[in-house]
Amino acid sequence: MTTERTLDVINPATGELLTCVPDADEAEVGRAVAAARDCFQQKTWRGLDPSRRERILWSIAEGIEQDRDELAALISEENGKSPREAMAADVKPAADCFRYYAGWVRKIYGETIPVDGPYLNYTLREPVGVVGAIVPWNFPLQIAAWKVAPALACGCSVVLKPSELTPLSALKLADICAEAELPDGALNVVTGYGETTGEALALHEDVDKISFTGSIATARKLLHASSVSNLKRLSLELGGKSANIVFPDADFDAAMKGAFWGIFGGKGEMCSGGSRLLLHEEIYDRFVEELAVRARKVQIGSQISGRQMDRILDYIESGKEEGARLVCGGERDKEGEKAKGFFVKPTIFADVAPEMRIAREEIFGPVVCAIKFKEAEEALRIANNTTYGLAAGVWTRDLRLAHHMAAGLEAGSVWVNTYNAFDSGSPFGGYKQSGFGRDLGSYALEQYTNVKSVWISL
Ligand code: NAD
Repeated sequence: MTTERTLDVINPATGELLTCVPDADEAEVGRAVAAARDCFQQKTWRGLDPSRRERILWSIAEGIEQDRDELAALISEENGKSPREAMAADVKPAADCFRYYAGWVRKIYGETIPVDGPYLNYTLREPVGVVGAIVPWNFPLQIAAWKVAPALACGCSVVLKPSELTPLSALKLADICAEAELPDGALNVVTGYGETTGEALALHEDVDKISFTGSIATARKLLHASSVSNLKRLSLELGGKSANIVFPDADFDAAMKGAFWGIFGGKGEMCSGGSRLLLHEEIYDRFVEELAVRARKVQIGSQISGRQMDRILDYIESGKEEGARLVCGGERDKEGEKAKGFFVKPTIFADVAPEMRIAREEIFGPVVCAIKFKEAEEALRIANNTTYGLAAGVWTRDLRLAHHMAAGLEAGSVWVNTYNAFDSGSPFGGYKQSGFGRDLGSYALEQYTNVKSVWISL
């Protein structure tokens, strides 16, 4: 890269400067897009034999696994989560994602359609072209893989823009791809801020599609950028305010674990976090109490930045002001070395009314709102009374009730007697303002292919 402007990459747990990376400007983004276009036009990637492309994607998965310790350490440093969590929630799923889509390369094809008249009609599935992948900082490698692997499997070329807060794992992924003999130009990484690098990509006339994970505010800008440029297609994975609903007949311990890790895993910086805990009145008090016992003991990582920490603390203040009962946490954790980072104590609010700000807006931190309900229909009403629709959890032993809830919840993923289960083969994405389009599974292939209908007169 030739850009002179740079940005600092900070370890949020220590405040230490890790390194500087380029803040790519319009010209630099233009060069990356040109390289991607050239690769697409010259067919240096999509023109390879499918079996060769399959092997290259498979080699990328192996490269990720080979460098797993280095990657986990890097993600831990740039994001603040523990290396163990980075391994489980970023490195392993990223490798699996490349392996899964390696398996798709030779299975993406059209169909023959029985049309009226003397025609042979068939469809071709063709790559959409140059894909801009814009990803956030919370699962930097996993979410990058969710975009890059299926786009490459479909024969697209990719320009990946990681978050300005976590660019290092994406740069390392580019090295791994080069070592796996992915042709030049098939994957290009541009680092920089959203309003510089990201916007240049979103406005670029030669980008055919943007696949985005991040906030609603940025999604609105991307929709605008598409409308004032080349109407590039978009898929958007946005935030959530997911309800995790516990019925009194549930396996109490399993529900407890699910509720706990559903919000405090990933330091609460999870789009699918179970941030609204809907508890049946019969178990409400006991559940909140036990959850607090665990929350007081757990050690979680640093939030991603001082800005994010302040945002979370601000929400905590609003919860107190609006009359929610603070059960535990509720403040910054400045014990010992933690004072150098941006740690927030796991926080539980009880007696939360659904109309409070903390129950409506995405906090994106280790803060859970416990809400009481009596009837299943009431739980459904509360759960669906949100502009979001990313995920939901249901805990019950009653099979009928479980299916009833799964059908009634307006969310892209519903977990029954588990929470935050993911698989490369299962689609993930939102209803309502949690976005549109799906990552993962066969569904992601829709994002990266055009369907061509061919008519042959017989
Ligand atoms: P963000 O929208 O600020 O940033 C996401 C990415 O967009 C970053 O790479 C950023 O640089 C880029 N960006 C910012 N402004 C831009 C612009 N004007 N033009 C182009 N690109 C721009 O979000 P964030 O703070 O990094 O991530 C947190 C958000 O992401 C939360 O709302 C969370 O719920 C959401 N999220 C959703 C999912 C999901 O799968 N649905 C997963 C993780 C995070």
